[in-house]
Amino acid sequence: MQNANLAEVTFADLGLDQRLLAALNAKGYTRPSPIQEQCIPHLLAGKDLLGCAQTGTGKTAAFALPILQMLLHHPRRMPRHCVRALILTPTRELAAQIYKSFMDYGANLRFSCAVIYGGVGFQPQIRALQRGVDVLVATPGRLIDLGEQGHVDLSQLAVFVLDEADRMLDMGFQPAIQRIVSELPEVKQSLLFSATMPGTVKKMVDDLLKDPVNVAVAPVSSTADNITQQLCQVDGANKKQLLLHILKEKHPEGLVMVFMRMKHAANKIAEFLSKNGIPADAIHGNKSQNARERALAAFKEGRVRVLVATDVASRGLDIKGVELVINYDMPDEAEAYVHRIGRTARAGASGKAIAFAERDDRSMVRAIERLIKQPIPELENHPFVPNKSAPPPSDSPHPFDRPREKGRSKVGFQYRKRRGR
Ligand code: AMP
Repeated sequence: MQNANLAEVTFADLGLDQRLLAALNAKGYTRPSPIQEQCIPHLLAGKDLLGCAQTGTGKTAAFALPILQMLLHHPRRMPRHCVRALILTPTRELAAQIYKSFMDYGANLRFSCAVIYGGVGFQPQIRALQRGVDVLVATPGRLIDLGEQGHVDLSQLAVFVLDEADRMLDMGFQPAIQRIVSELPEVKQSLLFSATMPGTVKKMVDDLLKDPVNVAVAPVSSTADNITQQLCQVDGANKKQLLLHILKEKHPEGLVMVFMRMKHAANKIAEFLSKNGIPADAIHGNKSQNARERALAAFKEGRVRVLVATDVASRGLDIKGVELVINYDMPDEAEAYVHRIGRTARAGASGKAIAFAERDDRSMVRAIERLIKQPIPELENHPFVPNKSAPPPSDSPHPFDRPREKGRSKVGFQYRKRRGR
């Protein structure tokens, strides 16, 4: 991973223990990334911190390494059900990924770590919590469920981390986070990390952090410089064909993530691609956790080339070899664009992002460009450039072409009998 600093700081310079250094070495990390370099000394000193850095720049290690070092230097047996460090994250897949990072970075330490999230059985998670854990990675809903059943005790907590903090503090998650925060002790270290930080969550951020250090290694919400971005104007009815064209003609190789708004549409597009000879699967919130994990594993192993996803997969997921991200539908919030395209160009690699924009998407495109403070260059020579003067073609047949409805041939209005009336 690139480090902008000329005086090349090493992990050893940051004061990390030999056992952590050995694990980093085994992972092939030669130097700390800028967010790691700037966060780790403050976190080792026990400060609260707000960390903003571009997607894929090593935020997990920035908080995991100091937590592991703290466990090493302050060993303590946790009472039953108690937790020393809690990491909250919005999606199950991200929780599993962060858990794995803790296990990798802490490979040479003796510590206990558990991960809990919804969609899978309770019993293994209950057993994992029984004897108390040093590190717990959790999604909010399952943590509250298990907490209310008496399996989690947060009264001994020393470190609280909110990953993807802006998402965790927005309307959807806010009540759950407040509920969890109300269980935490007054004295603790709190860390918030995200690549985007909209003004709407600033108040909650201020409430959660005490005298925090602010670390922002690139302008907040900026997109990684190594992502080439393009915009394709296209009518809705032609999007499928444009997708096929890009995947067959322009990018016939490499892993691709395609982001959609609707869960059922994600299934349909994955089926459409598979039928057209491009191995694809879908991941979204309507699938069982097993099916989600299977799809993700098949994609990571390259057995499917295209993962069609809703925003459940837009944040934090670190999948090697994703070369292209396609925004098939524009997101509902500009911030989601930054997170979606951040699934490519991770750890210093480069990548490409293509957004499909229908006529109605103009204001969202402008909002995104304002957020990322740069225009997205338009690709003007693809085969489906809309004819700007003609009305957009429609997906459904024109009313004049509609087939005759069965059983409606009698003259006069027919009032359908409704049950119970
Ligand atoms: P994260 O932003 O934590 O998801 O990390 C993004 C990617 O960068 C992951 O694949 C990490 O394994 C990798 N990574 C994190 N820190 C470093 C580092 N110092 N040197 C090289 N790769 C790193």
